[in-house]
Amino acid sequence: MTASRVLVLNSGSSSVKYQLLDMADASRLAVGLVERIGEETSRLVHETPGGGGGRERLGPIADHEAALKAVAAELAADGLGLDSPELAAVGHRVVHGGTRFTRPTVVTDEVLAEIRNLIPLAPLHNPANVTGIEVARTLRADLPQVAVFDTAFHSTMPEHVARYAIDAATAREYAIRRYGFHGTSHAYVSRATAALLGRPEAEVNVIVLHLGNGASASAVRGGVCVETSMGLTPLEGLVMGTRSGDLDPAVVFHLARVGGLSVDEIDSLLNKKSGLLGMCGDNDMREVLRRAGEGDEAATVAFEAYVHRLKKYIGAYTAVLGRVDAVVFTAGVGENAHQVRAAAVAGLGGLGLELDAEANGVRSPRPRLISPPDARVAVAVVPTDEELEIATQAYALVTQ
Ligand code: AMP
Repeated sequence: MTASRVLVLNSGSSSVKYQLLDMADASRLAVGLVERIGEETSRLVHETPGGGGGRERLGPIADHEAALKAVAAELAADGLGLDSPELAAVGHRVVHGGTRFTRPTVVTDEVLAEIRNLIPLAPLHNPANVTGIEVARTLRADLPQVAVFDTAFHSTMPEHVARYAIDAATAREYAIRRYGFHGTSHAYVSRATAALLGRPEAEVNVIVLHLGNGASASAVRGGVCVETSMGLTPLEGLVMGTRSGDLDPAVVFHLARVGGLSVDEIDSLLNKKSGLLGMCGDNDMREVLRRAGEGDEAATVAFEAYVHRLKKYIGAYTAVLGRVDAVVFTAGVGENAHQVRAAAVAGLGGLGLELDAEANGVRSPRPRLISPPDARVAVAVVPTDEELEIATQAYALVTQ
């Protein structure tokens, strides 16, 4: 029997998301989530999409080790335990790979140490990713653990794109450069867009707009990323649910000198209390749209700021690519909010962008074109699937 299953783990600071996929047909055997780890009110939700119904477990789960053991027990109860010979690998989402990791990597002690060394670049994310790998290794030592990095797809950006125009020695000393994030999503969606267009990936230039609670844009030439909007951290670029995106770095000095805020307070302000939330009090685009529809001024300005930034990036990346074959929307906002898509593309006829209003209004879980058939640039909606991409990359690595 060939082992064809991959368990995908996405370990956050207080949560673990997981999916068990069968790579023979890319089907989901189990999908679940443990949240509020370390609190009294922890919750595990476990579903088997193929049938069997879902289960919910409430009650304290002390740490990531307990969480992964609980996940393993749920899988075992469905006959999908980690001891199964059909399991080929565990694929771990790791947020920051620095310049060291540019492709999926089988975890060894050395690799784990190097991922730990990258914690200063991603202090909110990499520690939980490391813990997830450590615990998964103890549950089944013989199974390959594969780290798949959010930054890896962007490692092909040319040097002059990745560099900030600051003192070179300082940049080198502190590893300050643009890394980019959401890479598994940009990789998956740009490839799926070429498939939707029915053209080889190598011939297609795509602008991917990943608009979730976090949001990023990328310019992909022939399957190779040449530019992305997030930088040293996920703070740079588009207006997001709670992050400011681009701003004059002197805002930070001003807040420190004039406002008396500490570095940690400014970090929290820009990452957690800015973006849509900061501008109007809601980070969920559904609420922003509802309030803007009722004439709420703060929500309207927040929506307009969000769309304006998107337009700037579409224009900039059109210039970077020279020729654009498709602009594609993905993630929670991009897949669902037809108003955002319509507003982002409005007035960009000069760049070859037009929408078919009826197609844009259709709700569907499938990849689809929302531009008229004769448009110079295709506009598309392609649902992202980061778990499938992680599983695909991990499986390819362990079966090559
Ligand atoms: P993600 O990070 O990809 O899960 O996206 C989450 C975000 O998608 C939420 O914060 C919402 O702002 C947004 N979202 C989800 N569904 C809708 C919808 N029907 N309309 C507008 N925005 C949505």
